[in-house]
Parts: sequence; C-alpha cells; structure tokens
Amino acid sequence: MSDRHHPYPAYHLKQAGVPDDLCPVATELSPMRPGDWRSFRPIVDRDKCVKCAVCWLYCPVQCVEEHAAWFDFNLQTCKGCGICAQECPQRAITMIPEAQ
Ligand code: SF4
Ligand code: SF4
Repeated sequence: MSDRHHPYPAYHLKQAGVPDDLCPVATELSPMRPGDWRSFRPIVDRDKCVKCAVCWLYCPVQCVEEHAAWFDFNLQTCKGCGICAQECPQRAITMIPEAQ
C-alpha cells in the first residue's frame, strides 16, 4: 500500500507536519455551551415530581440538579435532548421550544 492510501487520517496529518496536539478542525476551544444553541428545554412540574431521580440517572450530560423538593436542570449545560422527559415516570417534565 502506498503512503497516499494509508487508512489513518492522523498519519497524513503527521506527514503534513501538523503537531499531535493541534485539532485540525477547530484549533481554538469554543466558549459556546449547549444553552446557546438548544432548541428545546425541559421544565419540571414541581407538584408532580416525587424526587425519584430517574431524570438525574438518565441525563447524558449530568445537568440535573437536586433541590429540596424537586429536581431541576442546569440550563447552561442541558442540550435539550428530552431523554429526561421520556424517562420521567411521573410525566413531570415537559420539553418546550426555546423561544417560549
Ligand atoms: S424523573 Fe420526574 S419525578 Fe423523578 S425526579 Fe426527575 S422530574 Fe422528578
Ligand atoms: S433535556 Fe437532555 S440534557 Fe437536558 S436535562 Fe434532560 S436529559 Fe439532560
């Protein structure tokens, strides 16, 4: 196999002199958080919440926060995937469009 057809992109980047620690796509960290681009956000009905913590368990980005009588969401890091609303056994979580 010729070098030109090497299967690993990292190989070609190295051949081109790109340093190992330089991301070729985005060379600077972005300060953007999911709260900046999210389309939907969860809201919790505090009367329905029984603090079972299922939303906390399933949230893929660990943005569910425990409060004295209910669970709520860190809207800076919540990406609006809706998994918490799907999994809440009490149907206490509703996803609403960000514009509202
Ligand atoms: S899954 Fe629903 S009922 Fe359970 S803690 Fe979360 S919001 Fe409350
Ligand atoms: S919408 Fe997704 S990211 Fe946001 S709290 Fe629910 S599970 Fe977590």
